[in-house]
Amino acid sequence: MLDEKEFTVKFERSMDLFNKAQVYLPGGVDSPVRAFKAVGGNPLFIKRGAGSKIWDEDDNEFIDYVGSWGPLILGHAHPKVTAAIKRAASRGTSFGASTELEITLAQLISTAMPSLEKLRFVSSGTEAVMSALRVARAFTKRDKIIKCAGCYHGHSDGLLTKAGSGLATLGIPDCPGVPAAYSQQTIVMPYNDVNAIAQALHDNPGEVAAIIVEPVAANMGVVKPRDNYLEELRQLTQKEGVLLVFDEVITGFRLGLGGAQGTYNIWPDLTCLGKIIGGGMPVGAYGGREDILRMIAPEGPVYQAGTLSGNPLAMTAGIETLRALSRPKVYDTLQRKTDYLIEGLKKAFQSSSSLVSISHIASMFTIFFGINEAADYDSVQKADTARYAKFFQCMLEEGLYLPPSQFEASFVSLVHDDADLRKTIIAAEKAFSSDL
Ligand SMILES: *Cc1c(COP(=O)(O)O)cnc(C)c1O
Repeated sequence: MLDEKEFTVKFERSMDLFNKAQVYLPGGVDSPVRAFKAVGGNPLFIKRGAGSKIWDEDDNEFIDYVGSWGPLILGHAHPKVTAAIKRAASRGTSFGASTELEITLAQLISTAMPSLEKLRFVSSGTEAVMSALRVARAFTKRDKIIKCAGCYHGHSDGLLTKAGSGLATLGIPDCPGVPAAYSQQTIVMPYNDVNAIAQALHDNPGEVAAIIVEPVAANMGVVKPRDNYLEELRQLTQKEGVLLVFDEVITGFRLGLGGAQGTYNIWPDLTCLGKIIGGGMPVGAYGGREDILRMIAPEGPVYQAGTLSGNPLAMTAGIETLRALSRPKVYDTLQRKTDYLIEGLKKAFQSSSSLVSISHIASMFTIFFGINEAADYDSVQKADTARYAKFFQCMLEEGLYLPPSQFEASFVSLVHDDADLRKTIIAAEKAFSSDL
């Protein structure tokens, strides 16, 4: 590991910028996990990205597995995407009026994910979820929502119930600023446990509008659904007349063109999207059954709007990205790259004296320290975050940029090449052969 002096030299400009940022921005950042609080050290300030790499302000080069937290499945500054954005920008950056681009992107999404019979574009995943739940409540004329502990659905009021305080509890506001009246409408249940949800429905008869879930959880690290979990959720919700909402903000176009719903062949009533469908620009979308989406203004009474919704630059980046992903064998290529990497990482752990496991699906993965199974929020809470932090720092020094938290997914992109993957494996071998 670098000593303090070497560290200061290597990251001089990032350290300086972080100090300056703290004058104006709370914590020096615009989104909390960027601050590296969980892994220590100084957050990087990024100057440039190209393909699988990013460069910080000190010109250190990193192979990037964060990919802007998921959107950049084609890598940074993909030539086709950036060229299209430039062309679109020269025609005007926003009109506050409809463009053909919205139809094109909606059609691409709806074709890939047929459960989205209709959809509405917004500017973030948070907005997508917030709006989807509003329409779910209006449609069912019920107020309560069930979410799963450890699933993240953006930062809207009522969904911030952290769920670290035990299972099957009614939402108690643990984020100051969220009125208790809001969080009391959110029932938090463990992930991967259909019985718990059945019990919650039983305890709140006729009150639950929707169950929202990440069909593959990726915001407590990657946690896969147990066999038949999603199927049973679908059956239960159908039986109880409760809407099933899949938050596919991460899994949409990550697990395949059909998202998790395509992979598992389960059709939710509503789906939330973001990240990849914006190709690195700020976008979200929610959609689903036509009879539900008809509730939205101007067709129906549920108000939801946005100055920059369906923004032409964002639509353009999304269209180019989804078109690139629609070429044959793209997801096979991504799977091959990821398999190679994961195999190499698994070999690398073998030299480690302590427990390490890897939870993965398609091109996303989490290396867990100190646990051998990631099944729900309780099990991942037992992970050894201090060891993850150390691993993170070792990898960073070797030129690998991983998520600065144990509880996040890493993403392989289509432009990670063999050399990148080999370098990653070698760095991991080195990290594990030290005292990790
Ligand atoms: C990222 C994410 C969100 C929030 O999206 P933003 O664009 O950050 O608001 C919501 N749900 C899931 C599953 C996410 O991963």
